[in-house]
Amino acid sequence: MPDCCCKPAPAPRGASAKCPRCGAGGRPVQTVTLKHRVKPAFLELVTKPGFLFCRSAKCEVVYFHPDGERLTKTNLRVRVGLKETEDPVPICYCFGFTEAMAREEIESSGRCTIPERITAEIKAERCACEVRNPQGSCCLGHVSATIKSLLGLRPKAVA
Ligand SMILES: [Zn+2]
Repeated sequence: MPDCCCKPAPAPRGASAKCPRCGAGGRPVQTVTLKHRVKPAFLELVTKPGFLFCRSAKCEVVYFHPDGERLTKTNLRVRVGLKETEDPVPICYCFGFTEAMAREEIESSGRCTIPERITAEIKAERCACEVRNPQGSCCLGHVSATIKSLLGLRPKAVA
């Protein structure tokens, strides 16, 4: 993705890179990302390299380590949009866009300009996904998918 600002995270270790609670495959996250997310009591724990992000929407575990450590939603300072169903559900962490903002724009104009606005901000080098996004990666793919599904939910206009 040429528009993406992210650096690849380190590769996961071994076959144990599955969430201990839900069994979903984990996505590697950098230490810097974890440090920005967790409550102060967990800072020492997350300096250990090798943590992974659980992408299951219904799973309480957000980060886990192949050695057994796990961090749940209550161990974090911020909401993780992927694991929330009630507003505000963040979809872009650098520029503060939420699912509700996308829904409102779609309801009033039938389209959504959020991906264009994010792309412009990325081009201007104002994003900070590695520290702001809980997955430490660019939100644009997730934003586009969310908007696509919101547009799909919208009742078709009567011709
Ligand atoms: Zn999980």
